[in-house]
Amino acid sequence: MLILTCPCCGIKADETELAPGGEAHIKRHGPGSSDAEFEAYLFTRANPRGVHFERWRHAYGCGKWFLAARATDTLEVFGTYPATSTAVPDAILSRIRARRPDWIKPDRIKPA
Ligand SMILES: [Zn+2]
Repeated sequence: MLILTCPCCGIKADETELAPGGEAHIKRHGPGSSDAEFEAYLFTRANPRGVHFERWRHAYGCGKWFLAARATDTLEVFGTYPATSTAVPDAILSRIRARRPDWIKPDRIKPA
């Protein structure tokens, strides 16, 4: 069972208390962007086996959105951080690299 610690209220919540929100760190393209950029924003999502960055909402708790870094193949959680973050905290990136030395950071993931 997936258990994430909500960074907003500090409660460890299992997946029945959470609502998934899809991939995190998607760059939103607005007016003036190309059709390809807007299409990618709407439809293109990563679906890795391994490290993934996701949006979650503590639906049956504080109700706030947050971001989580976890492994999709083992459910190992590397950390959670506020949804207002534009970059992944260095502590989480260090934890990922320690557990998975051959992990290649996607370009869209920026260190803090
Ligand atoms: Zn919460």
